[in-house]
Amino acid sequence: MNEPPIFIIDSLIGKLGILLFLCALKCLVGASPLEKLLHLPNVHESTFYRRASGDRVECILCERRCIIPFGEYGFCRTRLNINGRLYTVVYGALSAIEGRPIEIKPFFHYWPGSTALTFSTWSCNFNCPWCQNWTLSKVSPSPDKMEYYDPLDIVNLAVQSGDEGLCASFQEPTLLTDWNIDVFKIGREMGLYACYVSNGYMTLEALKALQESGMDGLKIDIKGDSEVYEKFCGGIDLEKIWRNVNEAKRMGFHVELVNLVITGTNDDEECLRGIIERALKEAGPDTPIHFTRYYPAYKFDKPATSIRTLEKAYEMARSMGMQYPYIGNVPGHRYEHTYCPNCHELLIKRYGFSVIRYNITEDNKCPKCGFSINIRGKYIRRK
Ligand code: SF4
Ligand code: SF4
Repeated sequence: MNEPPIFIIDSLIGKLGILLFLCALKCLVGASPLEKLLHLPNVHESTFYRRASGDRVECILCERRCIIPFGEYGFCRTRLNINGRLYTVVYGALSAIEGRPIEIKPFFHYWPGSTALTFSTWSCNFNCPWCQNWTLSKVSPSPDKMEYYDPLDIVNLAVQSGDEGLCASFQEPTLLTDWNIDVFKIGREMGLYACYVSNGYMTLEALKALQESGMDGLKIDIKGDSEVYEKFCGGIDLEKIWRNVNEAKRMGFHVELVNLVITGTNDDEECLRGIIERALKEAGPDTPIHFTRYYPAYKFDKPATSIRTLEKAYEMARSMGMQYPYIGNVPGHRYEHTYCPNCHELLIKRYGFSVIRYNITEDNKCPKCGFSINIRGKYIRRK
């Protein structure tokens, strides 16, 4: 019985003919507008996606896990489905780049005194109406109008500028992850640290890939309780953020938490207490927690946070067991310094984003009582 194979070959020849015809037609007509984007350096196949049904794809970069049909973007408008593959349109498409003190992030226990070359792209996966960087985070990227930066050039710039590290910040850095990973890998070879200032909504797949690229610093925003996230941030599952806090600590990241305390929104005692309780449980008492002052921005015009409210949050955190609470955006306040959790010795004196005095031993202990202080990296003394 040799007939069936002849039939198959016959049918294959027919299919081959149709394929050749379609190819010829495409050559005549040219690439589609979407396919033309594939030639741009900032349009890059994403590392973080799975095929879904039909020609749809599932983005697994952040916990929104968008299912994206052919020709469409995900929620953040940085991921585009072209022919059943997922592409980032912001690979190396930077919106800002600047060397900045690490204290401004704020990171107070990570490479104190150092500077990090800091960069960002466009857009965000959250909707916060108080966004302080809304001129970057509320912009939908146009793939063919982006300025592209090569990973090696960025690392060279950091080294030439005398920065000790690299930091993705300003808008949500998760959206720049494919490019950040390439930058961080090169940076690690050149002795630079790498960190994120993030809303903490990346998937565990992304977190793991970032760690493998050399990133070891993670600042996570806690914006309030689940009601605040639901009402203001666009249907975000707060549990995923606390899971990431816990997982990042377990994986060995240096983690700091930031709560932007917003007047009449997340500044009541119950909300603040809930954040502190959860921080203790998921991150542990040695994790720095910053209560930062809000100022009106974007669509929010509530008055700036009262300093007394920030002080209450600080005092509550300390009395509940957090060892390193801070107040942020209030330069000169006594609660922006680091005190020994054991003997209360003044260990790091700051003014705003500058370290004025550093009083911790080389092996990260209090010089007075020997208590171990949670510090990652070296203190960089600026001249
Ligand atoms: S990164 Fe963007 S496209 Fe991907 S899941 Fe998150 S919001 Fe959706
Ligand atoms: S997560 Fe951050 S960058 Fe994004 S909208 Fe909210 S405040 Fe802005």
